[in-house]
Amino acid sequence: MSGSLQPSGRRIWDRCEALARCSEDPGALTRVFLSQEQRAANELVQAWMREAGMSAGLDAIGNVVGRYEGSGVGAPCLMLGSHLDTVRNAGKYDGMLGVVAAIDCVHVLHERNARLPFAIEVVGFADEEGVRFGATLLGSRAIAGTFDPKLLDSRDGAGMSMRDALTAFGLDPDNVAQAARRRSDVLAYAEIHIEQGPVLEAEGLPVGVVTAINGATRLAVEIEGLAGHAGTVPMPLRRDALAAAAECVLAIESRCAGEPNLVGTVGRIEAAPGATNVIPGQARFTIDVRAPRDDQRRQAVTDIEAAIAAICTRRNVKVGIRRTHEGMTATCAPWLQDQIGRAIEAEGLPARRLPSGAGHDGMAIVDLVDIGMLFVRCEGGVSHNPLEAITIEDAELSARVLLRFIEHFQPAA
Ligand SMILES: [Zn+2]
Repeated sequence: MSGSLQPSGRRIWDRCEALARCSEDPGALTRVFLSQEQRAANELVQAWMREAGMSAGLDAIGNVVGRYEGSGVGAPCLMLGSHLDTVRNAGKYDGMLGVVAAIDCVHVLHERNARLPFAIEVVGFADEEGVRFGATLLGSRAIAGTFDPKLLDSRDGAGMSMRDALTAFGLDPDNVAQAARRRSDVLAYAEIHIEQGPVLEAEGLPVGVVTAINGATRLAVEIEGLAGHAGTVPMPLRRDALAAAAECVLAIESRCAGEPNLVGTVGRIEAAPGATNVIPGQARFTIDVRAPRDDQRRQAVTDIEAAIAAICTRRNVKVGIRRTHEGMTATCAPWLQDQIGRAIEAEGLPARRLPSGAGHDGMAIVDLVDIGMLFVRCEGGVSHNPLEAITIEDAELSARVLLRFIEHFQPAA
């Protein structure tokens, strides 16, 4: 009988709505690290955790941490969660769904009076998006023990340092290192998150198993040609920097379209001097390349750099390429992928595996412990946008899958 109690899609839904009301802007959802709105969200989440039979509190960087003891008090935990901060004008599910769905699973275990051989901890990370201080994954890095204390001196848009913001929030900036967890206390980390992309929806699947959080390389390219009169310089004699950049953009697109799971984007381009009647003497653009395997990404970047060099040599323009960001892939542990996959199959669904093109807290937690992720489809793949949408049915199903995963969880040998 007790096994018939299941997570509630309606409760998860209502709680996402309640969290969405904790916003600095009544017309749009914005909730940043160490804000009053975050304090309000933390209060709600801690109350739900206690209602679900957990002890709850804030750690040294302001992450909400709830703990449901296993059959023996003080046992190592299976860590679940996601982030409670948002981007500006955000959707209601990016982050929050993973926190409230995990709490719902524990709620059901508590109702069933069930204790597992391990503890469960649910974490609502205080900062993943990095909106306030420009540095991302602050909450999860603190837990992984990789928080860089130099960041305490970084300042927000109003000039307030992170150190002062922590103090104003009632935390001690000199204690952030205490948020770090010991490897021996955490068995694994698992997270539910909306896909933020269109793949699951296109295939008619509500959930999928994440294989890896893609690494990313970002480049800044500057091409130097020769500005000239748009009327007098014949086409063969031109050294048009923007035309060269345009050819580079298409070369990047074609290289990245050539293999599965590799993506490349030129998101910004500028030409100078920028006049209708002047041949562009200078062009600058950015490149963002992502892939689920580091070797795949590195090879693509090498090929792209060679293609740009060849195009610019042929067009007799100078080129400089600067690497502005390099983030390694965080692979989801195969043993966790398998266990999440089996939980999906037990619901009668195929365990579709897909990489994550977006960053997540697991990128930091992987330095502490093996990570696994379950994706939930979202409407049109739209995210970081108030139009972000899921269904109650999918929310409930994802929580059922997570609960099944928890119940059958076998730590790595
Ligand atoms: Zn997120």
